[in-house]
Amino acid sequence: MIIAIDGPAGTGKTTVAHAVAQELGFIYFDTGAMYRALTYGIISQQIDLENAESLQQFLDTHPVTIKTYLEEKNYYLGQENVTDKIRSESVTKLVSKVSSYAAVREKMVSIQRSLAEGVNAVFEGRDIGTVVFPKADLKVFLTADLEIRAKRRRLQNGESGAPLEQVAEQIASRDAQDAGRALSPMKAADDAIVIDTTELSIEEVVNKIINLKESAERDLL
Ligand code: C5P
Repeated sequence: MIIAIDGPAGTGKTTVAHAVAQELGFIYFDTGAMYRALTYGIISQQIDLENAESLQQFLDTHPVTIKTYLEEKNYYLGQENVTDKIRSESVTKLVSKVSSYAAVREKMVSIQRSLAEGVNAVFEGRDIGTVVFPKADLKVFLTADLEIRAKRRRLQNGESGAPLEQVAEQIASRDAQDAGRALSPMKAADDAIVIDTTELSIEEVVNKIINLKESAERDLL
């Protein structure tokens, strides 16, 4: 069974997807982390995104892989463990641009589909229900007001980080790029269930998704 959880930054996607997977004994995949791993490599190796040949060569020689140690996921780009490097500000700033390239999306989608073979999994991202797994057994799209999303992100980053308005601007700019791109734009699939998390606790969202999964299973019988 595949559960797709899509939505913009700060909706609680990562925490919720992880908790749902744990509760169900499913494997959890954070596809944003995969795009971030590639972006880190593109920055550190100074790959020119406009040079299609060098981008393709980089993609072909730097597979993104995931290894799990004691429940912790580690992201590798080629041989390098990049887990601690993919949340930096420079990666966050460039990741939406990198994710808009066809060659990048093709590579990532093919890896994501191969990860799903023969397993029960929760995948979180932006295009999971629309493009990666259009036949997913359950599709959820999380939303929340921008202000609350910025507050959540700021709490995660530590209050000493960027001020709230700046965090909100960064999120809004990433949303606009992710929703406005030509290829696989972030949007709810027609058959996705939209949950507004503005006023909900993580536990409430997780419970809703578990209930939806149970009714999806009943429908299959
Ligand atoms: O989920 P996270 O905020 O870490 O994702 C980082 C970026 O990766 C997103 O802003 C988006 O540009 C890209 N992404 C994507 N497709 C996905 C997951 C993430 O384009 N399935």
